[in-house]
Amino acid sequence: MEELNFDVVVVGGGPAGSSAAHMAAKNGCTVALIEKEKEIAETVRTSGVTWVSDINEFGIPKDCYNPIKKFSFCSPKNYVTIADDVAKAAVLDVRKTYRFLATRAKSSGSELFTNTNVSEVLKDSSGKCVGVVAKSQGKVMQFNAKVVIDASGFTSIVAKELGYVTQWKKFGVGAEFEVKTEKLEYDNWWLMVGQEYSPAGYAWIFPTSKNTARIGVGVGKPDSDVDPTIRLNELIDKKIGPIKDLGNIEKIEFHYGLIPNDGLSRKTVFDNLILVGDSAGQANPLVLEGIRYAIRFGEVAGKVAADAIKNNNTTEASLIPYEKEWKKAIESKINSAVKVQNRWVGLSDDEWDKELDIINELTADEFLDFIRADFGVAKMVKLATHHPKMVVRQLFNMVKGT
Ligand SMILES: Cc1cc2nc3c(=O)[nH]c(=O)nc-3n(C[C@H](O)[C@H](O)[C@H](O)COP(=O)(O)OP(=O)(O)OC[C@H]3O[C@@H](n4cnc5c(N)ncnc54)[C@H](O)[C@@H]3O)c2cc1C
Repeated sequence: MEELNFDVVVVGGGPAGSSAAHMAAKNGCTVALIEKEKEIAETVRTSGVTWVSDINEFGIPKDCYNPIKKFSFCSPKNYVTIADDVAKAAVLDVRKTYRFLATRAKSSGSELFTNTNVSEVLKDSSGKCVGVVAKSQGKVMQFNAKVVIDASGFTSIVAKELGYVTQWKKFGVGAEFEVKTEKLEYDNWWLMVGQEYSPAGYAWIFPTSKNTARIGVGVGKPDSDVDPTIRLNELIDKKIGPIKDLGNIEKIEFHYGLIPNDGLSRKTVFDNLILVGDSAGQANPLVLEGIRYAIRFGEVAGKVAADAIKNNNTTEASLIPYEKEWKKAIESKINSAVKVQNRWVGLSDDEWDKELDIINELTADEFLDFIRADFGVAKMVKLATHHPKMVVRQLFNMVKGT
């Protein structure tokens, strides 16, 4: 068995893993970034919606996304479009973006091991994580590490092997086709809600270019037993709602994925181990978007791991600044978003029609803060107290929990 020694071993070459590897290497560590697929983002498991301000902050190039400035929502008998002056949302070219992040990690000095599947966790005599074992093309490799970062996504392979976590109980399942369309308003996205689209979730049209889009269906488990792939094919075949306005549709590629939806239920640091991204359950539950959190907190994880290694102390206590930082940034916002999600999951079709009337009262910025779960206390209080429309005040009072 080949044996390799690194300061930091990152399991998973998604946005969380590549960002963690980049930051750890940039801060002086030797880093292995291990990905089981043959190439980074060989399989796409995400719709790739995120926000231009985050993209700019992360230094992701402009040719990695399609900008969006109109936000349309439709329910069985209602629809709204909120238009903004400038594009604040974006649909990522997922492969290009994820490969950009992995290449950046390599440029900072990380060693990338693709086609390398982590199958076991190494423990010392007291049961603490000290590395991983992986298989690559019939070869078994042992990676010894001072800190392991579990960025393996939904499966949380390392933390699960160590018995620190169990399978997520609540999660979203999404099925999506990347399609070529005959007609497309390419700066306008659609979220489609109500029983016909998804009984516990929503369907979407996210334009990726002038004539391509991702059409998908997400279903919350265990709330609904609907199979999103079957539902997606039905919606496309019958050309339901705004799908009919796309004209002829040619399917290019199928995407399928799972995302945790258990709120922020997990402990994310242990001796020599950090969990980040989907492995830590860091996603905005309103629309189940986690890419920006994966990148942001991946960077924090890499930096905190590097600091701990410099100080020769990689115990849970020395890694805790990572957990403190991400909790400070999003915990209260996610808890507020969970309240909105609980309200939305219970809505009937008629109630959705009325909910869209409330959404219609929001300005583009208010809508974006809402959908991004950017519920800062001051903003929420302002909306709950001073918004000219009573329905909006009521909605934000509910989010605040009063
Ligand atoms: C259908 C769907 C649609 C979504 N849409 C959006 C959206 O529009 N916007 C948004 O922000 N978020 C969206 N998300 C969520 C988003 O995709 C995740 O939050 C994000 O990908 C998390 O990044 P990550 O790096 O933690 O995990 P992942 O992206 O899952 O990366 C984990 C990586 O680890 C690798 N890996 C796993 N096991 C091993 C192993 N044993 N050995 C080596 N490598 C391993 C995997 O191959 C993978 O590359 C969506 C999710 C789904 C399922």
